[in-house]
Amino acid sequence: MYLDLSGSTKIKSNEIYKRFKYRCFKWKKDLRKTDAKERPLDHTLPAVFLWPLTTENATLLCREHNSEKSGKWPSEYYSNDELRALAVLTGIPYDTLAGQPHYNPEAIEHLKIPERVDQLLTKYAAYRQEIIKLRNRILEYENLDFFEHSTIISPAWVRQANQEYQRVIHQESDANTAQDTDET
Ligand SMILES: [Zn+2]
Repeated sequence: MYLDLSGSTKIKSNEIYKRFKYRCFKWKKDLRKTDAKERPLDHTLPAVFLWPLTTENATLLCREHNSEKSGKWPSEYYSNDELRALAVLTGIPYDTLAGQPHYNPEAIEHLKIPERVDQLLTKYAAYRQEIIKLRNRILEYENLDFFEHSTIISPAWVRQANQEYQRVIHQESDANTAQDTDET
């Protein structure tokens, strides 16, 4: 589903390996003699925010650091020195890497096109829970309700999504309240 939304391009793995000198970007472990599956390419800007894996958006990490990084925004995982090095290696602006997590604007634009939203819902109808999660995350981060752009969606889906959205928002404010109490 994420691949469909972010779009995919052919990536030049060898170019990326070379640029990162075949070393895990995090701890510089030499990955030259390892199997290809031991040197996964990480989405620098994460796939959960609908950024595609491109030659520019890839970071070479060892398996351990790849799973540690997973869906985190670069600023939530790397040190400031690492963010600056990554800006040079990837070409992604430092301000983007060091800033707040946000969705890929191109993918978000696609979610405003009724035809595309209807296609997406139909294709992933069996994964209703996942679609609802996605809708609620995008609503929270980007203030876009892409269900509104569907011409075919049942009110039952919208109702369920709204209920879950309320629950998540309440949980978050409860968590914040609990934290505040701890601090005082
Ligand atoms: Zn590593």
